[in-house]
Amino acid sequence: MSLWQKLKTGLSKTTSQITDGLKNFIGMQQLSAEQLQNIEEILIKADCGVQWSAEIIGKLKTMQMEERSDGMAVHHALSRLIEEQLAQYEGTMPFEYINKPNPEVIMLVGVNGGGKTTSLAKIAQFYKSRGDKPLLVAGDSFRAAAVEQLELWANRLGVGFFRKDDRADPAAIAYESYMQAKQRGYNKVLLDTAGRLHTKHNLMEEMAKIIRVLQKCNEFAPHQCLLVLDATAGQNAIEQAKKFAEFAPLTGLIITKLDGTARAGVVCQIVKLTKLPIIAIGVGESADDWQVFSAHKFANALVGLGDYDD
Ligand code: GDP
Repeated sequence: MSLWQKLKTGLSKTTSQITDGLKNFIGMQQLSAEQLQNIEEILIKADCGVQWSAEIIGKLKTMQMEERSDGMAVHHALSRLIEEQLAQYEGTMPFEYINKPNPEVIMLVGVNGGGKTTSLAKIAQFYKSRGDKPLLVAGDSFRAAAVEQLELWANRLGVGFFRKDDRADPAAIAYESYMQAKQRGYNKVLLDTAGRLHTKHNLMEEMAKIIRVLQKCNEFAPHQCLLVLDATAGQNAIEQAKKFAEFAPLTGLIITKLDGTARAGVVCQIVKLTKLPIIAIGVGESADDWQVFSAHKFANALVGLGDYDD
């Protein structure tokens, strides 16, 4: 299956919700106030957020819609507006540096169950396929299951794995894994972290300590700090984004489980709030169900348009 097909399949729950709503707009080029209101409701239902949806409708109102042979003028106009709003938040996994940090430290943060471990595995797979040598680091030593799951992924993908004893200090894990990566020639340190938000104060201290210690290894580490958010969590994901932004030096977002929600529009709310780039999105559970975020394809997939080879 091509990446585009995976994206389309992944987003299908949200897409069908939106396209069902837009069914009556096929063949239209002019929209009445009532019809604009209907479209606004469709966007809000998909969790795009009240404010964001109102902005889109404001623009749609004044937009000159093209006459189209496929009769999908409204779909195309909407897709273009969604893309315009999201394009500034397109991020990529940075892999071509002039002065490559070696090793580069990529730290994942987020609540438990959001998809951190799976996303780390997906990142490891991505880098491995580019010829890099990733080291997966079990930084949440308080969750035995998370450590085991990461080890399983490391074996499955054939990449390095680092762990310490149960309940070892996460900052010590970060430091030692960095040193081991340097010694053994791993050039990507992919660090898992704890996500117990209910102990926010401890988490804040723990995070600050990990960063202090990493900066002793390399003044720019962590080179990336990515927040993993579960799209099915809806408004909770937005709350999590607010809280993590308070104490983690976030550089980007990974939004997971877009295949499990009919409300993938939450992506629009999340970027509006955090102003952070989306580095990648998760559209399934396997290591390949992951892709760099393209505003163009995402917008087209949402409204049921487009056909791409890759
Ligand atoms: P962690 O606790 O944050 O490390 O979360 P995990 O990586 O263990 O993921 C929790 C569950 O979500 C697991 O069952 C994963 O297989 C699943 N998961 C992670 N990412 C995705 C995704 O993009 N789509 C789907 N459908 N499931 C996912």
